[in-house]
Amino acid sequence: MAKIAINIATGSLQQEEIIVGIDLGTTNSLVAIIHPESKKPVALKEHNSSSLVPSVIHFGKNAGITVGNDAKQYLVSDPANTIFSAKRLMGKTYNDIKNNSTSLAYKIIDDENKLVKVQVGDIFYSPVDLSALILKELKKQAEHIIKTPVTKAVITVPAYFNDAQRQATRDAGKLAGLDVLRIINEPTAASLAYGFGLNKAETKTIAVYDLGGGTFDISILNIAGGVFEVFSTNGDTYLGGDDFDAAVVDYWLSANTFTGEALTHRQVLRLKAEEAKKYLSSNELFKTEYEGKEISISRESFEAVVKPIVERTIASCKNALKDAGLKKNEVDEIVMVGGSTRVPLVKEMVSAFFEKKLNDTVDPDEVVALGAAIQADILAGNTTDMLLLDITPLSLGLETMGGLMDVLLPRNSKIPARASRQYTTYKDGQSGMKIAVYQGERDMVKDNRRLAEFNLTGIPGMPAGMPKVEISFLINADGILVVNAKELRSGVEQSIEVKPQYGLTDEDVEKMLLDSMEHAKEDMDLRALTEAKTEAEQLLQTTEKFLQKNFESLTKAEVTTTSLAMQALQLSLDMNDKNLIQTKTEELNDISSPYAERIMDEAVQKAMKGNKIDSL
Ligand code: ADP
Ligand code: MG
Repeated sequence: MAKIAINIATGSLQQEEIIVGIDLGTTNSLVAIIHPESKKPVALKEHNSSSLVPSVIHFGKNAGITVGNDAKQYLVSDPANTIFSAKRLMGKTYNDIKNNSTSLAYKIIDDENKLVKVQVGDIFYSPVDLSALILKELKKQAEHIIKTPVTKAVITVPAYFNDAQRQATRDAGKLAGLDVLRIINEPTAASLAYGFGLNKAETKTIAVYDLGGGTFDISILNIAGGVFEVFSTNGDTYLGGDDFDAAVVDYWLSANTFTGEALTHRQVLRLKAEEAKKYLSSNELFKTEYEGKEISISRESFEAVVKPIVERTIASCKNALKDAGLKKNEVDEIVMVGGSTRVPLVKEMVSAFFEKKLNDTVDPDEVVALGAAIQADILAGNTTDMLLLDITPLSLGLETMGGLMDVLLPRNSKIPARASRQYTTYKDGQSGMKIAVYQGERDMVKDNRRLAEFNLTGIPGMPAGMPKVEISFLINADGILVVNAKELRSGVEQSIEVKPQYGLTDEDVEKMLLDSMEHAKEDMDLRALTEAKTEAEQLLQTTEKFLQKNFESLTKAEVTTTSLAMQALQLSLDMNDKNLIQTKTEELNDISSPYAERIMDEAVQKAMKGNKIDSL
């Protein structure tokens, strides 16, 4: 538990140990704590300044690194050495981001299949290094404000972050000297802050709509008796205010021609576009000058260029409602989070979609950090009347025979979660088993994202079907997966923490969900075919073995008809015809089961006789 003392001379807080809540944003980051006196969450800020710390890093000539407000001015004067939106690169490869990297003014290493790195001078920085620099700055500022060492934190991530991105965030914390006690989802954190002030006896269903600079998240939750239960979550890790800015830049570039370098234009215009966007939140016309030309944009034109972007968020809202099994009118409150929800068109469209007035009781900039501070307080054991039940955004499963996805934990499962299932070998004496872990919604693993693969080795020799390999998935409260495989008869065991090398792009996530709906019929057909084939292949193998073993106990006619039926089945397999495979499987079964039973009976009788003799 945090021990707290107030320094009477300065009036500042002095705490021996405190767990802070950190919103590590794409655009802005901030730190919050539970105020020791008021017991309410507060965002930390220096006198007369904002609590928001821009997530910008400038690398100066003599290795002088500045972060936050001081770094922001270099976006124009020294763009090649000024890194922004590093969070967008977390857990991604160059392949993942290459189509979206044009708006970045700094250099990215274009090694296709490796995790992205940023080059500054001749030094390479990973997104983890960059996030760590931001976290270090936040830690320093927080320590300065509360005059206490800060070593423990709860950090928020977009709900749609996958394992790689969560791991990367955790690693960044570690690098910054922070013990990251928990990673929580941003919209869930926001709901905690929203629910903090509620009467604990109240029951409410809320939607948290979070549109920041780089990501969009929507979560549907239920709050009842202090229990926060997430029903569903949806979103896009590549959608936000940055896209509004880019749309405005495109609008200007298409209406004007400028001399000089395109990249410089984009960089300067990007900042002007952001200025325009903010200005238009409360005015009708924005005018500025660039290269001696007047450029302008009206509220109407602005709304026209950003409308398609906002529509994408509405599509996510629909999916989230569908997954939660709720209708629009069953949502009691819409909580708006993130700087981009200040755009009037966003408010209008969201309000129109849910057919409801929006809730504006929370500060859209601070609410996520405040929620992280509440979660920190829950972990410290101070807040005991609130409980968070979060979920995982995508299904997790294993590859089984024929490349099928066997889902162990469906998407929107409560976390922490555990699931296990037993598998067996399909070859006699098989000593190893490949365990391939996938994330996604499609029926065939090739359409999903592979997270990890490992081999369970050292299974003692046993006939096919005898080993019992139990594979269990454990998603901890951070949403990070641990996979364990154990052969139960021998106790052979192996386990890995899933550290995927590649992140999912927003398109991947979106595509995975869309594909799973679009291809539902195709997938079902393919699944049925694969299952039929697997069954047929197994029957062929066992019949083959049976024939070899019991050749002498069979009549010639039996052997011939069986061989013919086997050939017919093999032929149907080659033709990939599901119905034919099923028919031929049945036929072979019909032919072989009578004599298989007869031989079994004979064997049993022999054994019984033997038994009698023995027991006499
Ligand atoms: P993140 O969570 O990605 O760090 P924030 O929630 O801090 O982002 O939101 C940042 C985004 O909000 C930026 O794209 C910024 O331009 C936008 N924004 C901030 N204030 C306004 C405003 N008044 N009108 C429109 N957009 C705004
Ligand atoms: Mg945010």
